[in-house]
Order: sequence, then structure tokens, then C-alpha cells
Amino acid sequence: MSRIARELVEGAGLDVNVLTGKLTAAAGDELATFYHYAILSCHSVGLTDDGLREIIRDIRAEDLIHFDELTKRVYELDGILPLDLPGLVGRGDLSSSQTPDIRSPDDLIARLLESERRAIQTYTHICDVTAGKDPRTHQLALAILNEEVEHEAWIREFLGEGQGGRFRPGFRGRAPEVRRATGQDLPPAHGFPSS
Ligand code: ZN
Ligand code: FE
Repeated sequence: MSRIARELVEGAGLDVNVLTGKLTAAAGDELATFYHYAILSCHSVGLTDDGLREIIRDIRAEDLIHFDELTKRVYELDGILPLDLPGLVGRGDLSSSQTPDIRSPDDLIARLLESERRAIQTYTHICDVTAGKDPRTHQLALAILNEEVEHEAWIREFLGEGQGGRFRPGFRGRAPEVRRATGQDLPPAHGFPSS
């Protein structure tokens, strides 16, 4: 917790309670996405192939890191997350929605793209409101935004759309942008022990 961080951001003209509210809603969405994607990655057996299931798992892994980092930033700003889980989920766009009933591969793809679209909107907005006022939150939101754009690109690549081949094997699922922005080393990739 840091009073100083809060005062600096307030001094720059941001309402910190409003900002921590947005970060809390975003954190709730990330946790809800983690949960939904955990179900969808099991669900997708028979609906689609292993390639897409792996993408869903990699996105889920990064979204959990997003949740963690957003939570830390709320506390740095002298905020507090709801202590009960229902108090956290249900704030953001996604949190209140049920895991969708997926009946076809097209349903699944549509659901994934919609989820990424909303995340991209959320972090674009947080980047906008923090620009020039709260560099630390801005840097974090920008790093998450870049990773959400990547998530969409992985799905598009799977569909045979977009550039293709832009993602290094073993890099996916490790949130490299967010780790760089928060001064953490990148851990070894799953199944690719560093030698
Ligand atoms: Zn995310
Ligand atoms: Fe995502």
C-alpha cells in the first residue's frame, strides 16, 4: 500500500477511487475469463482440435497473470479488492455472464473473439485515462493491452487469418509484455526447459 502513489496520481488530476474501481472491474473480468476459459478448454474436446485448446490454455495463463498484476496495482494505489469473490465478479462486463453454452466450433470462436474484443476495449480505455497522469498504471495497462491484442491474433492465426507465424514457439502463455513492464524475468516455457 502506498499513500505516496495515491497522492501522486491524485495530484496529476485523476480520481484514484474511480481508477481503482476500473482496475478492480478489469481484475474481475480477468478472473472470470480465466474461469470461463478453463471450462471452455475442457468443453472444446470434440468441438475442435488440440491447437485451439492450447491457445485457450495459453490465453487463460496470461489472463491469470493480468489478474495478479491488476490486483497489486490496486493495493499500491492504497485501494482494496472486495474480500468476497461475488463482490469482485459481477462488476465488469464479463464477470456477470455465465460460461456460455457452446454447441459448435463457430460458437466457441465467436465467444473467444468477443471476450478479447471487450478486453481490448477495457485496456484501451484505461490507457486513455492514465496517459500522462499515472505512468505506472499506464505502462501496465499498455502491456496488458498488447497481450490482449496478441490473444486475438493467436485466434485469428488459428483461423488462417492475419499475418501468421508471428509468435515464437514456447513464448505464448507467459505474458512477456506484462513481465517486462513489471520488472520480472520471463520463466522457462512449459515443455521447453532452458538449457
Ligand atoms: Zn487479460
Ligand atoms: Fe485475453
